Amino acid sequence: MQNTSATAAVVPLSLERSALLAQLCDGLDASGFWWISGYAAACAQALQKAAQSSPINDAVAAEAHVSVALASAHVATIVYGTQTGNAKQIATGFSEQLLAAGIQARVLRSDAYPLKDLKTEKTLYLVISTQGDGDPPEDSRAFVEHVLGRRAPNLVHLHFAVLGLGDSSYPKFCSVAKALDARFSELGAQRLHARGDADVEIALVATPWLDIAVREAKLRLKVTPPASSVSFLPLRAPARVAHALYSKERPFPAKLLQNQRITTRASTKDVRHIELSLEGSGLSYSPGDSLGVYPENAQSAVHELLAGLNWATDAEASVAGQTHSAGRWLSHQRDIAKLSRSLIEAHAERSGDGDLRALLAPKQAEPLREFLSQTHLVDLLARYPLSSARQWQPSELLPLLRPLAPRLYSIASAASQVGAEVHLTVAHVAYELNGSARFGAASHTLANALEGASVPVFIEANERFRLPVDCARDVIMIGPGTGVAPFRAFLQERVETGVTGRNWLFFGNPHFREDFLYQLEWQQALKANSLHRLDLAFSRDGATKVYVQQRLLEQAKELFSWLENGAHLYVCGDATRMAKDVDAALRQIVAQEKQLDADGVADYFAQLQQQNRYQRDVY
Ligand code: NAP
Repeated sequence: MQNTSATAAVVPLSLERSALLAQLCDGLDASGFWWISGYAAACAQALQKAAQSSPINDAVAAEAHVSVALASAHVATIVYGTQTGNAKQIATGFSEQLLAAGIQARVLRSDAYPLKDLKTEKTLYLVISTQGDGDPPEDSRAFVEHVLGRRAPNLVHLHFAVLGLGDSSYPKFCSVAKALDARFSELGAQRLHARGDADVEIALVATPWLDIAVREAKLRLKVTPPASSVSFLPLRAPARVAHALYSKERPFPAKLLQNQRITTRASTKDVRHIELSLEGSGLSYSPGDSLGVYPENAQSAVHELLAGLNWATDAEASVAGQTHSAGRWLSHQRDIAKLSRSLIEAHAERSGDGDLRALLAPKQAEPLREFLSQTHLVDLLARYPLSSARQWQPSELLPLLRPLAPRLYSIASAASQVGAEVHLTVAHVAYELNGSARFGAASHTLANALEGASVPVFIEANERFRLPVDCARDVIMIGPGTGVAPFRAFLQERVETGVTGRNWLFFGNPHFREDFLYQLEWQQALKANSLHRLDLAFSRDGATKVYVQQRLLEQAKELFSWLENGAHLYVCGDATRMAKDVDAALRQIVAQEKQLDADGVADYFAQLQQQNRYQRDVY
């Protein structure tokens, strides 16, 4: 008789099963792999226990157990589409709640979801965000296109529920979730419960939506009771091991090591190179990841607002079980720049102002959006004053203000080169509005931070923006402005790991003399032959503007030959104009160099994306 642990170890994985395993792992991030490793460990433990208490311990029995485990691996699928990680966090939390209820659900990022599975999927939950202009998140483009497109299958066998995330200050609030929710139903699928449309205070909608979803799933889906032979419960333990001590919910106070302006005094842009210490945090990151920074509102703006509200700085106020001074609420906890429709409604009601009320009429969506973008809280109070009897009290106003959300910055360093440090490239956002100086909260916090100051941070992994695993691959990096940040990290990593592939950078900014971010580093890298090509577009140095896409077009032949040779393409920076124009230029190059029509070009890019060879980190 064979020894049990040896039996389990020698069970060979058939080709078919290896393929299945690879498919299940596709698109998983580190926590997903931890989860699977815990799952496998639990199965192995269960097998060992079963074998110890029973004489059936040969390879066939082991195979059978693994089959049981795999077959019952999931009864529901949770697909998420995310730009900043919120949808992923909700999806993961949802699966944990289901698991605690004995329901196995697989969680997949939308681009890792095998679209062919839609035909047979029985229960699908979708958690998906909508970007400002009604666009899907980068990882969901193909999924959304497929479901909304002509090739979408009939879905009569499917039960589904959708949770949308968005920002109600945009007219196309949660429009991606709304479109998919309607489309699933149109394709014959049965809605399990109403869609949730979560605004920036996500929990207000997400928590009740999840409660309903879990309750409903418990009634309808197969619950796996914790059995003594095959226990799935240990799955949760490795997931906890993977959680660092510090996280978005518990940010690490990182010490500021350096804050250096890297544009000249004459530049219209104040761009900072920021270095922070992660020493002792246990936090780690990979090139492509972002750093979340919790900001503070500018003190000048907070004082102006406290005066406008007639609130004492140290007056205590409690909201949803949290107590802070009024000063702290306005400096650390609430967004005093970005107002919501519900606040305008409440202020219109309080002030009785007819103009403000008129702005809320159904046909005024665009004027309201414009008003919201040009009006901070202090402006609203000044323009629509309240009578002394109707002044806002902290407990009334604070719940109507959005929480001050962390801001994500692409990390500009590779840990392999800088150790326990993290570097950022930050444009200090400063402008004048309604006669006063105003600032972007996070960039102002960083730009004003002195050496030794502590900044609350966390790591936001970005599995969709990764260097090629194959170190012989070339990379083409397109990053105008501060969009160049992750490419500094990429180059550092490629130097440290000694890859053989070539590196090509396209960079642009207004002026060569004032705005050439990291000029010395790129020039040294060129000299050292670690950067093989550098193409620059200084938009305002000549009589006519020149942008990176013009440089791409000028290098069409060479660029196409890199692509045909297997190069990976990366774009980082402004999503609204640059990324769209660069995408159009890249498509034009492929059309002309490969002589393809529009469908051919679409297929070429779909394939690039499938092979993870066209990755964008844009917002
Ligand atoms: P920017 O405003 O993007 O300007 C950089 C250069 O791009 C300038 O020379 C600008 O020229 C030019 N430009 C303007 N329109 C363009 C277009 N349609 N196509 C190509 N180039 C164009 O630089 P920035 O102030 O550093 O801002 C960077 C942007 O990237 C911000 O929106 C930031 O939020 C975003 N960003 C995103 C990420 C990310 O998603 N991970 C990371 C970093 C930065 P002119 O100004 O002369 O017209």
